[in-house]
Amino acid sequence: MESKIWLSSPHMCGKEQSFVNTAFETNWIAPLGPHVTGFENDIQSYLKGNSHVAALSSGTAAIHLALVLLGVTQGDEVICQSKTFSASANPIVYQGATPVFVDSETETWNMCPEQLEIAIKERIQKGKKPKAIIAVHLYGMPYKVDEIQKIAHTYRIPVLEDSAESLGSTYNGAHCGTFGDIAILSFNGNKIITTSGGGALVTNDIKIKEKAVYLATQAREPHPAYLHENIGYNYRLSNVLAGIGRGQMTILDERVSQRRANYDYYKSSFKDIDELVFIDEPKGCFSNRWLTCILTPSKAVREGIRVSLEALNIETRPLWKPMHQQPVFKDAPHYLNGVSDELFEKGLCLPSGSNLTENELNRVTSAIKTYFRA
Ligand SMILES: *Cc1c(COP(=O)(O)O)cnc(C)c1O
Repeated sequence: MESKIWLSSPHMCGKEQSFVNTAFETNWIAPLGPHVTGFENDIQSYLKGNSHVAALSSGTAAIHLALVLLGVTQGDEVICQSKTFSASANPIVYQGATPVFVDSETETWNMCPEQLEIAIKERIQKGKKPKAIIAVHLYGMPYKVDEIQKIAHTYRIPVLEDSAESLGSTYNGAHCGTFGDIAILSFNGNKIITTSGGGALVTNDIKIKEKAVYLATQAREPHPAYLHENIGYNYRLSNVLAGIGRGQMTILDERVSQRRANYDYYKSSFKDIDELVFIDEPKGCFSNRWLTCILTPSKAVREGIRVSLEALNIETRPLWKPMHQQPVFKDAPHYLNGVSDELFEKGLCLPSGSNLTENELNRVTSAIKTYFRA
């Protein structure tokens, strides 16, 4: 059996180790310290604008804190893109609130502005105005930022921008992670850069950042005795892991180029296979191409490719199963147009790591070409 080709595996550049060593040498082995602050500053300068960043233990923790900061509580409703990873939606339930799922459009595969507006109007009619909108830049492709923003503004509902998969992507020249009232990033092991596990909350309001850090460190009041006036969380990022993040930030732009090169490689390799469709960047969108995705003609073909590659030790994965199809969310209200269901049936994510070798990419494309010749 040939060696395993992963969908997206961690890719160290070498500089991470020395940051980690510094943490050990200085004994900053805690969920605070100079690397945490340094990592936050690195992300802030990368995103440009006037972003303030709170480094946290995961992207999921960042979404949870963002919902707390947006005032989401028991009995509220929160609109969430249906086509996403479950971590976008789970924190809604942590808060005792109900997710309302909204379908995708075909240009970016992200939240459909028309369905969003229909959902907002109907929820208001039913007597419950949604407390927030969670929009996701899936696989690195920016959602329709202007359209979503306009609707959110019209109805005065804050946007939580889930940028977990899209660090390095831009929309009209501005970085993903700078559009929402609050945005989140993830540095999980499979993301474009990683701290092994980690995340961040991004805001342009320094007070929101300070409040996020306060809640993430058990909501301790500045008082010699531990004094608590609020329920807190243990969500801060470890200084050791922030050291990995500092190393990874030095190479982020190269990682974006490498992932984009994977996309180009696959697209040109399959140019003669009419059955396979790629998603181009709409005007103004620059995708980090976190994962390269293909659309096949049917679920049977999608499964055929997936299973034949699995037999060759190559990992692929269907596009995210929409949340409205998940048993755990079966009772959640949803606003559908069929797009995310069809994408789930036909779509497949190909191995997309920035560390894939020419030989590995070739194994993937050869296997898929063989499938279509058979
Ligand atoms: C990875 C991911 C998250 C969660 O991030 P973690 O750091 O793994 O908790 C949230 N949303 C999306 C879209 C993701 O891909």
